[in-house]
Amino acid sequence: MNYKESLKNPVFKIISQSAKELQLDAFVIGGFVRDFILKRGDAKDIDIVAIGDGIKLAKQVAKNLPTNPKVQVFKTYGTAMLRFDDIEIEFVGARKESYTEDSRNPSVENGSLEDDQNRRDFTINALALSLNADNFGDLLDPFDGVADLKNKIIKTPLNPDITFSDDPLRMLRAIRFATQLDFTIEAKSLEAISTNCDRIKIITNERIVTELHKIIESKIPSKGFLLLEKTGLLQYILPELTALKGIDEVEGQTHKDNFYHTLEVVDNISKNTNDLWLRWAALLHDLGKAPTKKFSKKVGWTFHGHEFEGSKMVYRLFKRLKMPLNDKMKFVQKMVFMSSRPIVLADDIATDSAVRRLVFDAGDYVEDLMTLCEADITTKNPNKFSKYHNNFKIVREKIIEVEARDHVRNFQPPVSGEEIMKAFNLKPSREIGIIKETIKEAILEGDIPNEYDAAYQLMLKKGKALGLTINSES
Ligand code: ATP
Repeated sequence: MNYKESLKNPVFKIISQSAKELQLDAFVIGGFVRDFILKRGDAKDIDIVAIGDGIKLAKQVAKNLPTNPKVQVFKTYGTAMLRFDDIEIEFVGARKESYTEDSRNPSVENGSLEDDQNRRDFTINALALSLNADNFGDLLDPFDGVADLKNKIIKTPLNPDITFSDDPLRMLRAIRFATQLDFTIEAKSLEAISTNCDRIKIITNERIVTELHKIIESKIPSKGFLLLEKTGLLQYILPELTALKGIDEVEGQTHKDNFYHTLEVVDNISKNTNDLWLRWAALLHDLGKAPTKKFSKKVGWTFHGHEFEGSKMVYRLFKRLKMPLNDKMKFVQKMVFMSSRPIVLADDIATDSAVRRLVFDAGDYVEDLMTLCEADITTKNPNKFSKYHNNFKIVREKIIEVEARDHVRNFQPPVSGEEIMKAFNLKPSREIGIIKETIKEAILEGDIPNEYDAAYQLMLKKGKALGLTINSES
């Protein structure tokens, strides 16, 4: 492979020249080299390691670039960053690291390129390309990372037990890369993750969530969750999911394993959406099944109210992981809360009024809800499978039809409370609510169209039935 190809951007010559001016060696390292070999498309991040002062090199590069970009210096980390076009270039001096028990932040001293490669998480992330004039573009691959890329293997450069114990975030990164790239974690490294899984406790929630997002955004997210489960990490990160594992049997009656079902749903939905939060909703849609599981002789296994319980659990889970408690969280909650609604429609041909109610309750999220519920069909019975999918197709068509006619998606009452008060000369009172509810119900049932005149007539009728007198001036 011609690695020089990856260094065509003029910025690399400028870095090379700048390093020469400072009489130090510089290398491109890590993800950029890995992704070039994997042909993962143009990189937007470049990591440069200098054998010497990385911050000084960044400043020299900025001076030599025609755009004279600003250099952002992160003193505590000894790194500096600048932007060139739409590329972020990060500079660091080569370092040697040593760790203590209770922190993933090592003590750091200056080191050689080899020291720096030793501290990298995986062989495929330790690849470096020289930017030095005498061997520009040469690959430095002390751990045979290229072979691991070819064989699709994730492996730590040094003893995995030490690598993972030093910085437990690497365990999550291993699983994330295996999922993203569809690679296999080498046996010894995988074993070391299991051994060190409880070390994950020292990692901040923000870091954990970043990796979880990347796993969820992968093509087949279940690969990552199966690995998280197998290595014991999942019980520390998302115990609500491991609680869904297992099949109980009482008097010969069983229920499905909701953990594996959930993973199937996440894979299914990932074929149809790249929306991170909709994928999260799929992952969490059955959370409430663990605490609501019951067996009775009469009806067998039930999970009554699991959707409501699950939506409350979503809040607690987001809070614990320090995820934003914003509209994204509310969206996931709503999806979980409504996740069983369309299933009922899939059993039989849905009536217009059932579809209207679904659109009314789900509002702008109705299409996402349908996508979730279609993904939720994991039956292995081919007849049921095609029946459900066909019925959902009909429901989707009906949603469009009903919405075009009745506009209930973001329902606004056609007759306002003020108008009702005026019509019957009322002060704010219970009756107004009753009349409004009657009108809304009649529209959703299809008894009257969602139009002002029809609603006004119904208001008069209902008011009369409530014993109200019409205001002659209205
Ligand atoms: P991606 O952009 O997909 O996250 P990346 O490999 O570029 O992939 P970064 O987090 O930007 O990921 O890290 C850049 C490089 O720094 C990695 O390729 C790796 O060499 C090194 N690295 C990052 N995190 C760690 C870590 N926790 N331990 C050791 N080396 C790490």
